[in-house]
Amino acid sequence: MEQKIRELLSGIVHPEKGVDLLSGGMVERIAAEEEGIEVVLRFAKAHDPFAAKLKRQTEEALAAAFPGVRATVTLHVGTPRRLDPERKSTAGQIAHVVAIASGKGGVGKSTVTANLAVALRNMGYRVGLLDADIYGPSQPRMFGTEGYLPEAVHEEGIDQIVPAEAMGIELMSIGYFVKPDDALLWRGAMAVNALRQLIHQTRWGRLDFLLADLPPGTGDIHLSIVGELKIDAAVIVSTPQQVAVADVRRGVELFRNPQVNIPVAGIIENMAWFTPEELPENRYYLFGRGGARAFAEENGLELLGEIPIIQSIMDGSDTGRPAAAFDPRVEEYYRAAAARIVEKVTKSER
Ligand code: ADP
Repeated sequence: MEQKIRELLSGIVHPEKGVDLLSGGMVERIAAEEEGIEVVLRFAKAHDPFAAKLKRQTEEALAAAFPGVRATVTLHVGTPRRLDPERKSTAGQIAHVVAIASGKGGVGKSTVTANLAVALRNMGYRVGLLDADIYGPSQPRMFGTEGYLPEAVHEEGIDQIVPAEAMGIELMSIGYFVKPDDALLWRGAMAVNALRQLIHQTRWGRLDFLLADLPPGTGDIHLSIVGELKIDAAVIVSTPQQVAVADVRRGVELFRNPQVNIPVAGIIENMAWFTPEELPENRYYLFGRGGARAFAEENGLELLGEIPIIQSIMDGSDTGRPAAAFDPRVEEYYRAAAARIVEKVTKSER
């Protein structure tokens, strides 16, 4: 199917440039999955006069070639951003490692990580996701990659583990190695050893961002994991209720501990409010309002984003496709948060 799409794209010519979409480097992404086809076109100019026409032509060609299959064509503008992969951060050539943490479980840390990964990918970055949540590795489910069996390869003189791939995002999870029910038994040293192997041996290739989904909490095990990964910045996820108790404060302190000393990029407030479908203008602050912002201000942190409670977010994590990949409303919230993170993490380089 992907081959056929490539052929179609190579038959569509940019009138001004005189080259087809494929050989002209205007195709950023092709994804052909059971649920449908996704094509991302990228135009260097912000207002390419032919962009809309080429998008329409692509849509028509896909509809004609694959009747009945849902096809989405997205336009991106500007030259793709490529961060410096030579700034080696951990195994592989990874420009930036961002850890996503939370004081407690159940606040949506894994959901936020998965959707941020999709938003960064949509912005044109190469993204990997390391699921380091040894207590409840949920990324295999979020991306529909349960049952993936990582292969070991011997390359460049070292044993490497091949990550899974979904939606153009590279994925590695402790969940690929243990049965879901056994994960809870993985405590202490054993879990950290297994993780250490994943951290150092995964064949990530070149990435702009590696997001690390850390286990909830702030115990010794976190210190070991954080010490193993060369984290550039941490993002803390909290719900409005949680920010009021000490958990989030402890999360911030973990990273600010002089021995750890990792910059905290800021907080993402998840489940910030609820908007019913039938009253899209209404916001119900079920768990209180403004707490995360106040906490952020008091602690010299930025509020990177506020994500409301949305049905598609929950559906997405159950069906193996993060909502940012199919719900434009959700994508907007996550793209805004992702943009703030990129800004914070790359600021020091400019
Ligand atoms: P954690 O990783 O912090 O334990 P999860 O990411 O597993 O939490 O999320 C817990 C549950 O809450 C999941 O069922 C998820 O789908 C749901 N959820 C998280 N964020 C939202 C949201 N903004 N809107 C709706 N449901 C959400």
